Amino acid sequence: MAVESVVVIGAGQAAGQLVASLAQEGFRGSLTLVGDEPHLPYQRPPLSKKFLAGEIEMDRLSLKPAAFYDKTGARLLLGRRAMAIDRPARCLVLDDGSRLDYSTLVIATGSRPRKLALPGAALDGVFYLRTIADVSALRARFAAGRSLVVVGGGYIGLELAAVAAKKGLRVTVLEQAPRLMARGVGAIVSDFYDRLHREEGVAVHTGAAVRGFEGDGSIRGVVCGGTRFDADMVVIGAGAVPNVELAQEAGLAAHDGIAVDARCRTGDPLIYAIGDCTNQHHPLFDRKLRLESVHNALEQTRIAAASICGRPAPAMQVPWFWSDQYDVKLQMAGLPAGATETVLRGDPRSGRSFAVFHLSDGVLIAVEAVNRAAEFMMSKPLIAERARVDRCKLADERVPVKDSRV
Ligand code: FAD
Repeated sequence: MAVESVVVIGAGQAAGQLVASLAQEGFRGSLTLVGDEPHLPYQRPPLSKKFLAGEIEMDRLSLKPAAFYDKTGARLLLGRRAMAIDRPARCLVLDDGSRLDYSTLVIATGSRPRKLALPGAALDGVFYLRTIADVSALRARFAAGRSLVVVGGGYIGLELAAVAAKKGLRVTVLEQAPRLMARGVGAIVSDFYDRLHREEGVAVHTGAAVRGFEGDGSIRGVVCGGTRFDADMVVIGAGAVPNVELAQEAGLAAHDGIAVDARCRTGDPLIYAIGDCTNQHHPLFDRKLRLESVHNALEQTRIAAASICGRPAPAMQVPWFWSDQYDVKLQMAGLPAGATETVLRGDPRSGRSFAVFHLSDGVLIAVEAVNRAAEFMMSKPLIAERARVDRCKLADERVPVKDSRV
């Protein structure tokens, strides 16, 4: 094996999984992870779900126990930040001035919350939600009867709203777009989540552009159009920005994510990038994508590990994602963009279980399944195959989705 020293920037979902994937590939060289958070690599999805709700504690967030890294021989430099990539010298410069040589570098720096530069945004009680530290601070303030304003009706903001509403907080969601989760889901699913949150007692306002925050050191209210909403705390969920600066400063191409090829390699053959920070062409959709999902992080990790070990990169799978809000699990596969028609199974206007299938000229390209695990599972291989489907069978509850292929 040619590679001897792999250094990874970041110690999150993708980096943690890379340790396991490289071990599976039989990697025998040295492996070092540099992560600026003080924790073992951990999973973020529970941060806005069970961890926020207090149903699980921190030990359940770690991807693997400390013993796993000892066993695989991976060295973790935690609470340490990478400051620069010195490509000519093939080394990484850390925040204490030390240098770490690499023969292969993997950038797994993830993304960070998009900050809103609005008046009062620095008041005490205004939060973002990305890390264990963010949620720990927020959890300490969660008490029934307090008022929470969530700025941004994307999936993180809505998951947070669901947890808060169940805990008895008075929750308001302010979304600037005309519908909820507009970047991620189609209008039918947006309308369903609007109804769901209202049924659970959340005040949902769409088309609501926040102008600023008011308070006397601590947050007291949110100004939105001509209206002021009382707030004991605010959480801003306004999307994420990929952490590409290190790559850019080292001269690597990055536009909405670090550009990587099918093997997750950047323009420098010694440097890979994986996870939220990347932008990659997806063969199934024939377009470049920057995906922020656990599945994407795991998928790119498998590809990078195989490539680093000199094996062919495994084929890319259909991207998928999930979100948990109240008793509702949303599972999505494929990308609805480019659909020419939709087919419904079940009724999104009543109850809490239905599926929306997105077709392009008769080919199934995406599914949005609300409490419909079977429809989700059966749709995935059809989307991967670009299967033509029968619309009537797809809509018919009695026909398993897999039998709708024509
Ligand atoms: P991360 O896990 O963010 O890891 C990157 C790490 O690199 C971070 O620790 C960062 O601090 C560190 N870092 C950055 N720069 C440096 C540097 N210069 N030096 C050292 N370290 C550095 N996805 C789903 O599929 N389903 C869900 O339900 C879901 N829920 C989510 C809920 C929340 C609250 C959040 C925040 C995300 C959620 N996601 C979900 C998205 C998913 O967690 C991400 O796609 C995934 O974490 C990406 O992994 P990553 O390794 O690329 O980035």
